[in-house]
Order: sequence, then structure tokens, then C-alpha cells
Amino acid sequence: MSILREILVRGLRSEALNRMVHLTHANTLTVLCYHGVVEQRLGPEHHRFLTTVSASDFAEQIEWLPRWFTPVTAAAVRDWHLGLGTLPRHPLLITFDDGYRNNFTLAAPILRKYGVPAVFFVSTGYMEADRLYWYDELRLRLLAWRGRDILVPGRSESQSWPAEPRAQRALAQRISTACKTIPNNERLEYTDYVRRETPEWRLENAERETIRPMNWDEVRSLSNQGFEIGSHTVDHPILSRLDPAALRRELRDSKSRIEEITGKPCFAIAYPNGKPGDISPAVVAETEAAGYELGFIVDERLHRLGGNRFLISRISAAGHAPPGVMRMRVSGLHSLLNFYRRK
Ligand SMILES: [Zn+2]
Repeated sequence: MSILREILVRGLRSEALNRMVHLTHANTLTVLCYHGVVEQRLGPEHHRFLTTVSASDFAEQIEWLPRWFTPVTAAAVRDWHLGLGTLPRHPLLITFDDGYRNNFTLAAPILRKYGVPAVFFVSTGYMEADRLYWYDELRLRLLAWRGRDILVPGRSESQSWPAEPRAQRALAQRISTACKTIPNNERLEYTDYVRRETPEWRLENAERETIRPMNWDEVRSLSNQGFEIGSHTVDHPILSRLDPAALRRELRDSKSRIEEITGKPCFAIAYPNGKPGDISPAVVAETEAAGYELGFIVDERLHRLGGNRFLISRISAAGHAPPGVMRMRVSGLHSLLNFYRRK
């Protein structure tokens, strides 16, 4: 990094500048989206490297965040939107997507220790069977690819599988991203193709901790500990790629299953993947019709209170990054810079 660039990065990450930006956002809701919390920091060769946070970094973040924010529940956010309650200044909501088992074993004890509420969004189809989320299984199977050539979604010709691990990881990532942009039935066909071609594949123990989903006893226990459980659909498809009947099923079946398990209303959903293209007006309308009261996306912005409660902005938590990166994301500086970059 050049010296000038380093000075700039340090300045942008500094506590003073971010604190100043933060103070101008008292009436903005900050929602953080976490995925996994793992025992040790991971290396970049690790699957889910960037979407996980080590337990010690997570504890540091959860201890620090209440100094700038007042943590609130999803119910408080819903009540505010429905005109039934107020929110404190600088409200912060912690959310977890996918329902990995480490949310129960590692994240929940830390949240309890600091008295910080959180909502866990789970995909119900993965909580009952010993199944892995489709994109985790897909990427790990791809990394075990032994064939010379591979078909790539959306392309008619196969391409050669690279020899170098870094290039393999990049291609596996590209394929898994491509799978999120094709119709759901094509995605299912592609996943079957990869399964057929990697029959001898075994999940490494080292990956198990990062990607194994919770079971229903663990979800129920989180709910009994006072945490909120939201829906992340049944099968984690990209909702905008579904036909209307499948869309209804994903929204309604997951909601009723979670209510059956927890005995509490399931009023919030995090749309799988959560990027703007993954949600359509039809998805939002069906979500409301299914009886949800809040919907969460991931667009790396703070949520302007008064905005659409079915499109609540979230920021990805920063895993494997210095504290200044997290500061920039939650202060509003990050989304401000993105705004000017897009212009
Ligand atoms: Zn997800």
C-alpha cells in the first residue's frame, strides 16, 4: 500500500471521524447481518472466510457496539413501524442469517453475557435433517472437483477446471454466485449434476463447525433464552427466481413451522441472499400477504426510519478485518462513500 493510501485509509477508519458521522445518524436504524461465529480466526483458503467472525472478535464487537448504539429487538422495530412504540436514539439490531449451529454454541452465550438482543433467521428445511445449505455444499463439492472440465451455469460449453487452488476458489465462487441468478429449477438441476460428479465427497471436520445448521432443539432453546427467531424461508432459494406457488410455500411453510416450534409469532423474514435483485415487488407483496410484518435485505446501508418495513437495510458484519472497518460500516461513512462512488 502506498503511504498516501495508508494515511487515507487510517483517516477513514479513525474513531474521531466515524464518531462524528455517527452522531448525525441518531434517528437511523442500524441493522447488522452476521452469519457464523467460529472458535478461531480462519485463513482465506477457508470456505466462508469473510462471512464469519471469530468468537473473540465477536465479543469485542458486542462489547463495543452499545457504547455508540442502543441495542433493540426486532419486535421494537416492528412496533415502531406500526406506530405502537418508540425507539431510542441510535437504535441497533443484531441479526444472524442461516442458523448455523455456532450461532447457538458461540454467539448466543456472548450476546447473553452483554445483554444484547438478537434475531436469528433460520431456513426451516435445514433444521430437521442433517443437511447443509445448498450453496455451502455446492462450493465445498466444487473445491473437491477432480474432473478436467466443468459445466458452468448459464453457459453451453464446459470449461477446464483450474489447477491452482486460488483459481479454483475463484471459479467455485463464480459458479455459486451464478446459481443465484438462474431459475430455481435450473439451480436444482445444476446442484444435482455437481453431486453426481463428486460422489466420493466428504465434509471435512474443519468446515463442519462453520457450516453445520442448528437443529430444532437448539432453535427452541434460543427462543426460550429470549432471542427472536425469524424466517429465512424453507429451502433458501432466491425468491425472485421462484414461480408464484413455490414463493407462497417458501414464505408460509417456514413461518408456520417456526411458530409451531417456538410457540411465538414469526413476524420477520430475512430474504435469502437479500440483494436488490433477489427481491421483486411480487416477493414483497407475498411476504405481506403471508402475515409477516418486517422484511430484511442486505444493501450495506443504514435504514432510514420511515422507509419500507419490508425492505429494511442491513450491513454485513465485518469478519477478519480490523476494528476500524466495522466502525466505518456502522457509522454511516461506508454507505456515504458508496453513495458517492455510485454517482
Ligand atoms: Zn442466507
